[in-house]
Amino acid sequence: MALAPIHLEPDKLSHHARQKHAQAHWWGNDVLPSLICPFMSFQREWNAGAQVDSTTDHCLCPEHHHLLKLVCVHMEYLEDNELVICSCRPAGIQLVHWGFFPCSPLAPTLAVSLDMLEFVSDLFVNMAPNEQAWAAALTKYLKARGHEFATGDSLH
Ligand SMILES: [Zn+2]
Repeated sequence: MALAPIHLEPDKLSHHARQKHAQAHWWGNDVLPSLICPFMSFQREWNAGAQVDSTTDHCLCPEHHHLLKLVCVHMEYLEDNELVICSCRPAGIQLVHWGFFPCSPLAPTLAVSLDMLEFVSDLFVNMAPNEQAWAAALTKYLKARGHEFATGDSLH
């Protein structure tokens, strides 16, 4: 189901509000639908007890490929990772295949494990959602275990 564009008077919105609205539209209509099949595939393999293979074979398409460096947030640690991306192998699809969710649609610098998101989802069913409190608690928890976000990478 595609999200209908909201008709707002553009000149009455701030630049930030227009950008935020465009990004929500992009997530809802393009990014999230493209991640459903990879997510179902990951979940099927995970439930069958398969090990997630985070190695990727090289894409042979003729397009220019980009090396993307990002931080993956596991339940108990942070991990620096690299992805080779192109339009036929976007970062989001590769990350969901690994069991992570990208924090931005195109070139994420941060990805959070689906396990962690499942935990947060269950937590927020039982208490008022508070992303700031979760981010602060997780950042403190990881820092106490020697895993600190580099400047520019943050859950906030
Ligand atoms: Zn390619």
